[in-house]
Amino acid sequence: MPSTTTFLDELFDKGLLIDTGVDGLYGRSGLFEEIGDRFQALVTRYGAEDEPEVVRFPPAMSRQVFEKSGYMKSFPQLAGTVHCFCGSPADHVSLLQTIEAKGDWTEGQKASEIVLTPAACYPLYPTAAKRGQLPADGLLFDLMSYCFRHEPSKDPARQQMFRMREFVRMGTPDQVTEFRAKWLERGQALIGELGLPLKLDVANDPFFGRTGKMLAVNQRDQRLKFELLIAIESEENPTACLSFNYHQDHFGKTFELESSDGEVAHTACVGFGHERVILALLKHHGTDVKTWPQSVRKALWG
Ligand code: ATP
Ligand code: ZN
Ligand code: MG
Repeated sequence: MPSTTTFLDELFDKGLLIDTGVDGLYGRSGLFEEIGDRFQALVTRYGAEDEPEVVRFPPAMSRQVFEKSGYMKSFPQLAGTVHCFCGSPADHVSLLQTIEAKGDWTEGQKASEIVLTPAACYPLYPTAAKRGQLPADGLLFDLMSYCFRHEPSKDPARQQMFRMREFVRMGTPDQVTEFRAKWLERGQALIGELGLPLKLDVANDPFFGRTGKMLAVNQRDQRLKFELLIAIESEENPTACLSFNYHQDHFGKTFELESSDGEVAHTACVGFGHERVILALLKHHGTDVKTWPQSVRKALWG
């Protein structure tokens, strides 16, 4: 294969990903989905003993909740909003004329009450807060959602619409930090079972602008975010496939979540990049699943 062929080209050639004409927006083959389903079943097995409550949200969320979350303060560059046509029949005529003339027909679109979900856990916090004070042993949720982030890229591991599996813990600082420590171990064991070389590192989120730089430094200093990295697109810059985030009382304060002791609840989440783990498997074990190491096949297919 010539060296100019990228991993993305190979995935397109083998039909594992399907080009839509937009970087980071891909269709997936049955095999790609099958690997993903098996991976999700493995994640479920690793988390089963904690008996998380399963909740699924659609890949969009309330704009009002999104505004409250502060996402636009930190990551305005990544957000995606849903806009709709709300005009009159006359507006419709001019809309069609604008499309015909290849003009910008989107100018008249109005923001709807919906935005695209940027991380699987965002719609959860107000839902949990509505239940009232947390029980003494806190809460634990199992989530999965398509997420949107406007970060078009030729790197197949950086998509604009991708799936994120998450476990989210809410409770006292001790409950929450214990949860994260446990998943740091479990995450490594799980990826180890998949025969993938991993590295663990402290990380920061891409907070926007000058104040964002300070937030990022603070996040690193306090070791609030860890990432489990696997080389996919490059050896020098391995890709975050799992993230372990301790939000302290950020979401507790924002959404008025209260622990059973009357304090503001702390939260943490562990996120699994669904497509990223599939891509890591394909990269390291090859695109022919039948030739994957026996131990990896056993972990996934039993
Ligand atoms: P990165 O540093 O690579 O941008 P991130 O720190 O933004 O990743 P998180 O915000 O912690 O990632 O999201 C949780 C998980 O979702 C990540 O560990 C990763 O596996 C996955 N993920 C994040 N962004 C993308 C993306 N653009 N495409 C595919 N998966 C993603
Ligand atoms: Zn989360
Ligand atoms: Mg990112």
